[in-house]
Amino acid sequence: MSTGQTTGGRPRVVIVGSGFGGLFAAQRLRKAPVDVTLVAKTTHHLFQPLLYQVATGILSQGEIAPATREILRDQENTRVVLGEVSDIDLAARTVTSTVLGRTTVHPYDELIVAAGAGQSYFGNDRFAEFAPGMKSIDDALELRGRIFGAFELAELATDPAEIDRLLTFVVVGAGPTGVEMAGQIAELARRTLHRDFTTIDPSSARVILLDAAPQVLPPFGPLGQKAHKRLNEIGIEVQLGAMVTDVDADGIVVKDGDGHQRRIPAATKIWAAGVQASPLGKQLGDQSGAAVDRAGRISVQSDLTLPGHPEVHVVGDMISLNRLPGVAQVAIQGGRFAADAIMARLAGRSTAPEFHYRDKGSMATISRFSAVAQIGKLRLSGFIAWMMWLVVHLAYIVGFRSRVTTVLHWMVSFLGRGRSERVATQQQVYGRLALEKLGPDFEVSKTGGPGRLGLPADVGGRKSA
Ligand SMILES: Cc1cc2nc3c(=O)[nH]c(=O)nc-3n(C[C@H](O)[C@H](O)[C@H](O)COP(=O)(O)OP(=O)(O)OC[C@H]3O[C@@H](n4cnc5c(N)ncnc54)[C@H](O)[C@@H]3O)c2cc1C
Repeated sequence: MSTGQTTGGRPRVVIVGSGFGGLFAAQRLRKAPVDVTLVAKTTHHLFQPLLYQVATGILSQGEIAPATREILRDQENTRVVLGEVSDIDLAARTVTSTVLGRTTVHPYDELIVAAGAGQSYFGNDRFAEFAPGMKSIDDALELRGRIFGAFELAELATDPAEIDRLLTFVVVGAGPTGVEMAGQIAELARRTLHRDFTTIDPSSARVILLDAAPQVLPPFGPLGQKAHKRLNEIGIEVQLGAMVTDVDADGIVVKDGDGHQRRIPAATKIWAAGVQASPLGKQLGDQSGAAVDRAGRISVQSDLTLPGHPEVHVVGDMISLNRLPGVAQVAIQGGRFAADAIMARLAGRSTAPEFHYRDKGSMATISRFSAVAQIGKLRLSGFIAWMMWLVVHLAYIVGFRSRVTTVLHWMVSFLGRGRSERVATQQQVYGRLALEKLGPDFEVSKTGGPGRLGLPADVGGRKSA
């Protein structure tokens, strides 16, 4: 076990997470007289809102996931550390992280926790095997392989029922992610792939968007109906009031509002419903007495700190406060607010007592040239909303290079019919399930432990991935 380095005896700020909350907090502290350590379990900052475009072959993973180290390299007071945080000790004021068996303890004077949220299957984790979620680059690349692979297998199949099953795509969850994902699969099938196959007609693919809720995009109010209409226009079947009761390799079982159960044969299922906050929230709740809700979100005080711990700030998707939504702006503004509070406290100034979220609006794309946007009382749909979506997303993509290549890829897909990123490797498609089958033994083998897997020495005995 090693101890995280500190320099110069300045106050130590530890940030957990390199997502929207963590990264924007770190950037806000760039000129502060503190030593910042940013610990995250990935080496990149992930722009989650565009994951669906990686999954459907429009963008490459690099465009939405620049290296955190590169983004922060000119920030002299900041050190970026790879590691999964397993423990936060509020009494000892330490954060413990691990990577490949190497454990590091990071002492802190101020802590910002921005570990975000993962997928929730509402207690049915077994669904994950057959209906991957979309929370990480791994998820998006696995989905890309599954989506493009389904067309390939359909081309080989001879039984009409089998072809139908392979060409049926079910997206669970009619929130922004589900709507965007379903829209892009439909466009992929009807605009991009329609001339690429000999035997099958990809444009006949069935895309189903289903949700237990009674409306599409519930937070968008009347715009939800407009989105619903547009989804139907591009050939997507929207099934509402439909609750998923089972998922397996060959299909999905849903229960309708009248209690009737039915099965939809479908090779590709995508889970875009429900989130569960990082388990670090529960740890913080147990130690501070702050309540944690069913989705794992911790009740923070109005200044985003924990009760009795003004030095611990929690931001973004992990928090429960005034029914704030789990969106990027809540995390960005929360991260900046926490950084400002730290700087004020260290300078002996009073800190702002309350975090005020400034709602800059929300938007979702449906297909090319069509989106819905809600900004204050303004409600927009169609091409204008789509242009706004384009500009806003481009502004928040980190890095000039990524912006340029993203625009080029958007031109290929939205002005043309192509998709520049159709590659998916076997490892991307099968890796997650293979690793799950190996279980904890794989961790042991990765770190040079006993070769219980019977892997060759150069695989089982290596010291790093
Ligand atoms: C598919 C998808 C589409 C979305 N679309 C939109 C959209 O259009 N508009 C919008 O506003 N919002 C959207 N969101 C929501 C938005 O992305 C989140 O609200 C935002 O990312 C939350 O920021 P965060 O910093 O709290 O968490 P995240 O951005 O999730 O960052 C969490 C960070 O913590 C790290 N981490 C987690 N656990 C640990 C650990 N134990 N140890 C170390 N590091 C850890 C992660 O690696 C990551 O770096 C979308 C989300 C998804 C998944």
